[in-house]
Amino acid sequence: MSASRITSVDVACNQAMGAAPWFAATDLPTRAGLLRAIADAVDASIDDLVPIAMEESRLGEERLRGEVGRTTGQLRLMANVVADGAFLGVVIDHADPSLTPPRPDLRRMNIPLGPVAVFAASNFPFAFSTLGGDTASALAAGCPVVVKPNPGHPRLSEAIMAIAQDALAGAGAPAGVLGLVDEQVQTGIDLVNDDRIEAVAFTGSQRGGLALAHIAAERPRPIPFFGELGSINPMFVTAAHLAGREKDIATGFVGSFTLGAGQFCTKPGLLIAPRDEALRSALVDAVGGAQGQRMLTDAIRDMFLAGVDQRVGIDEVEVLHQGGLDDSTDSVRPTLMAVDAGTILAHPDLLEECFGPMSLLVEYTDEEQMLALADSLPGLLAAGVHANGDESILADLLPKLSAHAGRVLWGGWPTGVAVTWSMQHGGPFPATTRPESTSVGAAAVQRFVRPVTYQSVPAAWQSPAVRDANPWGVPRRVDGTLELG
Ligand code: NAP
Repeated sequence: MSASRITSVDVACNQAMGAAPWFAATDLPTRAGLLRAIADAVDASIDDLVPIAMEESRLGEERLRGEVGRTTGQLRLMANVVADGAFLGVVIDHADPSLTPPRPDLRRMNIPLGPVAVFAASNFPFAFSTLGGDTASALAAGCPVVVKPNPGHPRLSEAIMAIAQDALAGAGAPAGVLGLVDEQVQTGIDLVNDDRIEAVAFTGSQRGGLALAHIAAERPRPIPFFGELGSINPMFVTAAHLAGREKDIATGFVGSFTLGAGQFCTKPGLLIAPRDEALRSALVDAVGGAQGQRMLTDAIRDMFLAGVDQRVGIDEVEVLHQGGLDDSTDSVRPTLMAVDAGTILAHPDLLEECFGPMSLLVEYTDEEQMLALADSLPGLLAAGVHANGDESILADLLPKLSAHAGRVLWGGWPTGVAVTWSMQHGGPFPATTRPESTSVGAAAVQRFVRPVTYQSVPAAWQSPAVRDANPWGVPRRVDGTLELG
């Protein structure tokens, strides 16, 4: 049995502070190598980790094995982001004494913020948890990380932390690049309040996220708080597109909102379509055929069932298929409700996320109603449209989706977020607390750096990133011209 990896907030922050200068000074291949070493070690331990995750999260083996691959793929993408060097944002303007006033030598680059606190999510025990995207992108930025584990999977958090810490030590990193505190609520609060923490990344509920965001903002020295708080991810269907595709739309939508027992921040919480009996009956068939599934924790299950009851209790809400809890197996069957567009406009509470296997069919009678609905949407992680392409309404609808969402889909369904260079997983509040940021994809690293311009600093004291010879081969803009490195 290995020693516990959990330390107090004070020890974790002290060690993180101690490691920060070393980590910030690592060259790009070294830092990329650390991320790859963690990924390799996690891949090699998949058979030990998945059974613990199955026990603690109630998720299935296939899903969890896939999630390990996603997690190590994320770490390797971040290693590639580091090696590429574009995230450093290097811009050089050489001195020009002929200008009025004369211009000094100016070199701008991004540097790491310093120690970052990461709050692990419950619904992805690997990919958004201890070694998830927040941790991977903070490490890529050169920031030591202190993880507040999710109480939904404490043993997994410690096991995977041990693997990562051993891999880091084996690759020559000092203790403190990656630390773990315990899962108590007060520990998380103490961590955000600790003056040695420079930024916080969080994935979870709006309530928890806002409570912690306020603490981060009210510290004597406020710090950035990157909260991913969930979303209702509406999918619009035009009348012209629906005709003849009722079954495909119904099957795709139900498959997406019941995936993982609906416990995804990208679950489509609204299907916005013209009133159509064939669609209704295809939806009822598809939901009726969906299996019940166990939810992540008793608390999440109870919150979900209460959310369904609250919506069912609204007079104008019609229950198309009533799911609910099967006590003998503790599994939850999906529920689908329908409302007309006017009801949604009068009941903005129906636009709040209900985390679990539940969704709403919102029926519109004309295009004006569809556009009014699009205007009334809150901030979203994703929104999309199923359309033929020649509907004139799209000229008004698509800009409205961009105005509210971080990702706009043409066809398909919002569950499944590719971890890649172009991904944006964010959006205006309440989807996140920082609409300019993403928690998935290469740009996630930008949350944990800040730019510094070095003025007239001699070459000997410059970071290699901004030297004229460009020893790291990073892409940069020199005297206004883009160079690819
Ligand atoms: P959560 O309740 O928001 O908790 C996430 C983390 O924040 C946990 O470590 C939690 O610790 C901590 N926390 C929550 N409230 C806090 C507070 N007031 N002060 C200090 N720390 C606090 O999320 P969850 O338990 O994973 O799931 C509950 C709900 O979150 C779900 O039903 C769903 O609505 C939402 N959720 C959203 C996403 C998403 O992708 N945005 C993902 C998962 C869950 P404690 O548990 O110890 O309080």
